[in-house]
Amino acid sequence: AARPPRLNGLPSNPNLANNAKPNSFNRRQKIAQQRKSLPIASVEKRLVQEVRNNDTLIVVGETGSGKTTQIPQFLFNAGFCSDGKVIGVTQPRRVAAVTVAKRVAEESGVELGQRVGYSIRFDDMTSGSTRIKYMTDGLLLREALLDPYLSRYSVLIVDEAHERTVHTDVLLGLLKDVQNKRSASANDCPNTEKKQLSNGMLLEKGQGVWSSTLKQGQSRRFSTLKLIIMSASLDARVFSEYFGGARAVHVQGRQFPVDILYTLHPQPDYLDATLITIFQIHLEEGPGDVLVFLTGQEEIESVERLIQERLRQLPEGNRNMLTVSIFSSLPSEKQMRVFAPSPPGFRKVILATNIAETSVTIPGIKYVVDPGFVKARSYDPAKGMESLIVIPTSKAQALQRSGRAGREGPGKCFRLYPETEFEKLEDSTKPEIKRCNLSNVVLQLMALGVKDVIGFDFIEKPPRAAIVKSLEQLFLLGALTEDCKLSDPLGHQMARLPLDPMYSKALIQASQFNCVEEVLITVAMLSVESIFYAPREKLEEARTAMKCFSSADGDHITLINVFRAADEFLEKRKSGQSKEKDDKLLKKWCKENFINSRSLRHARDIHRQIQGHVEQMGLRIASCGDDMVQFRRCLAASFFLNAALKQPEGLYRALASGQVVQIHPSSVLFRTKPECIIFNELVQTNHKYIRNITRIDYLWLTELAPQYYSMQR
Ligand code: ADP
Ligand code: MG
Repeated sequence: AARPPRLNGLPSNPNLANNAKPNSFNRRQKIAQQRKSLPIASVEKRLVQEVRNNDTLIVVGETGSGKTTQIPQFLFNAGFCSDGKVIGVTQPRRVAAVTVAKRVAEESGVELGQRVGYSIRFDDMTSGSTRIKYMTDGLLLREALLDPYLSRYSVLIVDEAHERTVHTDVLLGLLKDVQNKRSASANDCPNTEKKQLSNGMLLEKGQGVWSSTLKQGQSRRFSTLKLIIMSASLDARVFSEYFGGARAVHVQGRQFPVDILYTLHPQPDYLDATLITIFQIHLEEGPGDVLVFLTGQEEIESVERLIQERLRQLPEGNRNMLTVSIFSSLPSEKQMRVFAPSPPGFRKVILATNIAETSVTIPGIKYVVDPGFVKARSYDPAKGMESLIVIPTSKAQALQRSGRAGREGPGKCFRLYPETEFEKLEDSTKPEIKRCNLSNVVLQLMALGVKDVIGFDFIEKPPRAAIVKSLEQLFLLGALTEDCKLSDPLGHQMARLPLDPMYSKALIQASQFNCVEEVLITVAMLSVESIFYAPREKLEEARTAMKCFSSADGDHITLINVFRAADEFLEKRKSGQSKEKDDKLLKKWCKENFINSRSLRHARDIHRQIQGHVEQMGLRIASCGDDMVQFRRCLAASFFLNAALKQPEGLYRALASGQVVQIHPSSVLFRTKPECIIFNELVQTNHKYIRNITRIDYLWLTELAPQYYSMQR
């Protein structure tokens, strides 16, 4: 009978070389064939020559033409890794770094983590023998803190540059500078104490973070750094101009016609429209997989559940559809599932965030469903508040999305809005650096030795007000001194932690409140999306389950309770024998308690990693035990910029920004509504909601953050 197979009924990880034993010969042949047929294969020699001739090269090519997976291999084969040097490839997204590395490892017939590996925050799959390394752009920025010349790399490829994430933009500035430094190092004079660099960076010997690579009086010579900027958008000019008229080459793609269909009227509920469209395709269209663009994990998981529900209502013969999802916090071992071909007779529906727009190419897609939205960061420098908002895509994004349907043959794209709306969309997305909080970036640039952040040679300048606001916030957090230098040790310590500055501050400050253990858990839990889940049909049960964990003091302690309860459960079950067994047990426990097991596992992972950093910093991991006042005081002392006071009618006024906000219904404080609170997140939908909230005492603010509260009020 045509019962939909469970997801784990798919062939397990057919994309991993080591698992592919039975068919490995056929599979390798097939992969070799696929590689040869990629548009980029025919220009291998010319591309390599271009890289030899140009220190900086812009490569523009249609999505799916083979840039990300092939070019690093071409360069490896052409000898760019001689004397142990590494080819680094940066991606704006974790998932892309992981899945592409896995694919390339398989294509090269090597084990992942050996010649080909990846490194992302909280997950390193590289070794001494890694020569092609995929990583996030943020991770490479961190590496530069320890190795300012990025000396292990012979080639650095900044991929997906058109995405213009804030990390990509900062990285471009940094790499431009590193490239100049390395070229100049050939005639470096060993006794110069300070050297002003092109980008306004001041390199001081033996100082701070530089000391690990530059020993006193030691001069090093570096080979030139080859830079390749890769982009899917056809407009290479901005990159070329930024790199002094660098050469740009185009790689031809292959694109079949895609029929674009619009709705007649605007859709009031785009998730509902999405569901209807998916089933319409399934029941009325010919074979072919469906790619659906949603805005985040929560949305994906809820659509996934709704699809399963509706499938059960279909006649048996029509249930031959299965769903897979891909989003950034999906555990890496699950990410490869989207690439597994659907079993014969089944239609695969891929629920994806805009990861699938250009970063990863999934074979087999014939239909695209595009509701036309994307989750984006938005920042108001005057108020100093960053928030996540769901906004319409740009035209460029809509075009990229529809293009995904025409990779292997003619396809169809269903845009869930009227054609007149398309005309109103922005041409392209505004670079993230112009719409996000820059505290993290400013802190990192300063740790890299950039004295004048406002004067930094950005590819596109962020608003001056945003930089000034960040400097002010960092000063208030104690990361900067009055004369705008990184404070010692706090500022340096904060720059080293791979966390938002406020979280870093909380963690470091926690030792004074004897609650490093609690803050560590909190920060890990806050790093993942949606720990709780409440399926529509079991809302009451889910609420009751949540009550077992909830704390009258707020969401942070509630999150700690969940984390600890899971730990205790595993301990009681005397697990810890094998990771698989633990995972299984945990999954069951999560299900019973209406906890999102993906999120919890991810949080446990992150916890382990941050713990490593904290130990390295020499902080003692102590607990405040039952004295949670200590913990709440620590939160007040670190998140004081996000404090809010109750107003009439259950609203709140954020003290720093003056904005009127509401407690999100998912918060444990939604009903009790205490007088004074701190929060971590602002989400804007129809309302301005704050999330992750803890009750505090207003007087703590003046006591613990006098630098801010005694001045202001
Ligand atoms: P580009 O970077 O130019 O967008 P990629 O190098 O990412 O292109 O992809 C090249 C081709 O490799 C695509 O046609 C894609 O379908 C295929 N591919 C990439 N990753 C996988 C994977 N994990 N499994 C199967 N095919 C893949
Ligand atoms: Mg790519």
